[in-house]
Amino acid sequence: MPHENRTSINGPRLEGKRAVVTGAGSGIGRACAERLAAEGARVACLDRDADALRALTDALPESTVAVCCDVSDEQAVSTAFETARKELGAIDVGVLCAGIYLANDDAPVHELSLDAWQRTLNVNLTGMFLTARETVRMMLNGEGGSIVMIGSPTGIYGMELGMHAYSASKGGVHALARVMANEYAARGIRVNVVVPGFIHTGLNDWLFADSAAVDGIVSNIPLRRPGEPAEIAGLVAWLSSSDASYSTGAIFTADGGLTAV
Ligand code: NAP
Repeated sequence: MPHENRTSINGPRLEGKRAVVTGAGSGIGRACAERLAAEGARVACLDRDADALRALTDALPESTVAVCCDVSDEQAVSTAFETARKELGAIDVGVLCAGIYLANDDAPVHELSLDAWQRTLNVNLTGMFLTARETVRMMLNGEGGSIVMIGSPTGIYGMELGMHAYSASKGGVHALARVMANEYAARGIRVNVVVPGFIHTGLNDWLFADSAAVDGIVSNIPLRRPGEPAEIAGLVAWLSSSDASYSTGAIFTADGGLTAV
């Protein structure tokens, strides 16, 4: 299958922007932090993994800020955003990626424990709310901006994968983004969802060890391959830029066509 050139950038679109990226220690969040920095933004990278953050910021421009924080902890989130504000001055771009999938504990509802449900919702939905709330507060005090939340195909339709808590959390993220887009449009804040398809990251490393399972999933993807974190970051960078100035309240997929079939 012919492959497009995915690496070219038409000039640094984010010069002068100040961004917060959650879940920046790994996978899609890390690729987004790298791409935003490459396009000229100063980036505050949030994650709960201090070692991963150090490795990332060592590889990025000196102006990058690392902030260790659990997105499901209200006080920790508030302190982390205050640190970002002090370092960057303000925030124009929020990319909210932090998320978990409890591979051993998520299940169809009749087998799902309340504990697994709550742990998933605490990070994926409450963590999204807490970080979105801080981002909006900072943007309302500034000149508005762009927020991108990372959703999932499982939040759009019911996949037969037993991921009931994860799917419900992502459906909540999609709804939160839409109502925020409507609420804050007049105050200059755009809010969109990016839905990655099947991307090899720390979240699903265990699955990629099973080549038969990967082949089964890929056979349902029109582009017939998994995606790469950088292919999600390209869409996120576009949404974070003024090139996307008329886009808000939308769900954008980067999934090789998975949700089209
Ligand atoms: P990843 O490589 O595991 O990255 C997620 C990052 O978020 C990790 O560094 C993780 O730290 C961090 N994190 C988790 N819980 C946190 C918390 N409570 N506070 C702060 N940081 C936390 O996975 P990914 O695939 O890039 O996931 C990024 C987003 O994409 C998630 O929202 C995920 O649901 C979504 N997504 C992924 C796929 C896919 O195929 N990979 C598809 C659709 C949607 P730890 O390593 O310590 O957990």
